[in-house]
Amino acid sequence: MDAADISADLEHVLYTADQIEARVKELAAQIDAEYEGRQPLLVGVLNGAMIIMSDLCRAMHGHVEVDWMAISSYGSGTHSSGVVRILKDLTSDIAGRDVLVVEDIIDTGLTLSYLVHNLLTRGAASVKVATMFRKPEAVHAPVEVSYVGFDLPDEFVVGYGLDYDGRYRNLRDVATLAPHVYHH
Ligand code: 5GP
Ligand code: MG
Ligand code: MG
Repeated sequence: MDAADISADLEHVLYTADQIEARVKELAAQIDAEYEGRQPLLVGVLNGAMIIMSDLCRAMHGHVEVDWMAISSYGSGTHSSGVVRILKDLTSDIAGRDVLVVEDIIDTGLTLSYLVHNLLTRGAASVKVATMFRKPEAVHAPVEVSYVGFDLPDEFVVGYGLDYDGRYRNLRDVATLAPHVYHH
């Protein structure tokens, strides 16, 4: 196992931890204002949303509850198909609840679209989506996204919960990976 510093694997940083933190505060204030007097259920999609979920919910001042789902999307290679299998379902009954799905990143949005539809069929009062990052492809997504942290260029990024082959989720910045990482 190599114990080298993660930063040696990075090409360039797109957003620093400080920039992300400032943006999360803004999103939290916006969400607090829009859910005032209600108590949203924040639904995180594992594993990528672990970091944004913990930062977002702690930046909020209103009451919230938190729950998690894990899903796997069947697709060819790197593209998701929108055909989804639920690996871990919610613990809570969401009938009548205001659900806010918390995502790390939206690319095609196909997986998310399935998820939102699925949550609505369970009788949620409302289902909205917050994502920390959004790719250009997402403009074609069949799902409305209410809160977006940053729009990214069409590059593969890691950090702030986002992985490559299971690693780099713990990187505090969001960055592209150096070519040597892909060719070893
Ligand atoms: P979608 O269904 O929106 O196409 O798929 C979104 C999922 O693809 C994300 O939850 C994430 O797992 C993965 N993904 C999309 N773009 C990136 C990226 O730039 N970096 C990483 N690490 N994962 C990505
Ligand atoms: Mg995700
Ligand atoms: Mg991943």
